[in-house]
Amino acid sequence: MLDDAGTTQPPKAAPGPTFSVVAPVFNEAPGLPEFHRRLAAVMTALHASWEAIYVDDGSTDASLDVLQGLHAADRRVAVLALSRNFGKEIALTAGLDHAGGEAVIVIDADLQDPPEVIPELVAAWREGYDMVYAQRRKRHGETWLKKLTADLFYRLMQGVGGVRLPRNAGDFRLISRRALQALLSMREQHRFMKGLFAWVGFPSKPVLYDRAPRAAGRSKWTMWQLWNFAIEGVTGFTVMPLKLATYVGLAVAVFAAIFGGQIVLRTLLFGNPVPGYPSLMAVVLFLGGAQLMTLGVMGEYLGRVFNEAKRRPLYLVERYLPSEAPVSTAAVVQGDAVRGFGEE
Ligand code: UDP
Ligand code: MG
Repeated sequence: MLDDAGTTQPPKAAPGPTFSVVAPVFNEAPGLPEFHRRLAAVMTALHASWEAIYVDDGSTDASLDVLQGLHAADRRVAVLALSRNFGKEIALTAGLDHAGGEAVIVIDADLQDPPEVIPELVAAWREGYDMVYAQRRKRHGETWLKKLTADLFYRLMQGVGGVRLPRNAGDFRLISRRALQALLSMREQHRFMKGLFAWVGFPSKPVLYDRAPRAAGRSKWTMWQLWNFAIEGVTGFTVMPLKLATYVGLAVAVFAAIFGGQIVLRTLLFGNPVPGYPSLMAVVLFLGGAQLMTLGVMGEYLGRVFNEAKRRPLYLVERYLPSEAPVSTAAVVQGDAVRGFGEE
């Protein structure tokens, strides 16, 4: 939402229960009732007030109907329907914006993140950790190609990204209120959540778990989307690719000097029988390629500057059905009663 200064500020969530569970939903209708059943069983056993915020990210199947059914049947369910599909990262942000809990749990709605792990996350939070992330022990039901590319990506981000991404950790995690506030203060359009989570810092702790295969439906990630996701990660956290051009240029210049010297010498010593078409072609093509690639890299960054400069709101809310979970006692004491975004 835009404030007077024209910046996109996070809407302040109303004080809420002890736990807010945020689950982005995109075409997950078949699996949702089962997901909520398992989630509710786990959360109820924690003996604290909680709410589940389902963010419908412009689903084209019956997901929103199913969610509205859940909302009608269970007052701990909040449904936030976005105006269209904004992508998981933005859907997550929308959910987090509306989470009033003292601790917020982020979980996929496809049952790949087992809700049964949540008590362990909560236990670590009660020990005082701000960011408790679930770390995969094994990757079931994923191709070797996905495993390999994921591995490469983590290495790259650790090497040049400037943020230490925990390996094999996704978005499934628990975030304390203060870490959440820090997270939500970053309103960039290009949201690489894994990176933002790591950027925030605060005492963090992994909890190991086994990632299950999808319960129903299918993953929306194509190889092309994963590639773009990786570019998002790199450009969001490092300008190293921009510097790369400097060093490639430097290397080419050194090579050119040596090559040029060699040609002069050869001509002086042996005369000039005009050879060199292959080497000429090689140099021209190489330089052309290097220049286009550098332009492309600059374009990637320029495009991002362009997108950020527009300062559009991150998402638009089509419908918001808040939960009626009891407010946690701590939130009442703090007394920061502010109306939630999109309640009007
Ligand atoms: N999702 C979403 N918007 C999208 C794509 C996915 O909200 O545009 C949700 C999806 O419903 C699921 C979670 O994000 O709850 C993870 O998506 P997916 O299972 O496709 O990703 P993967 O588990 O393969 O990383
Ligand atoms: Mg999934």
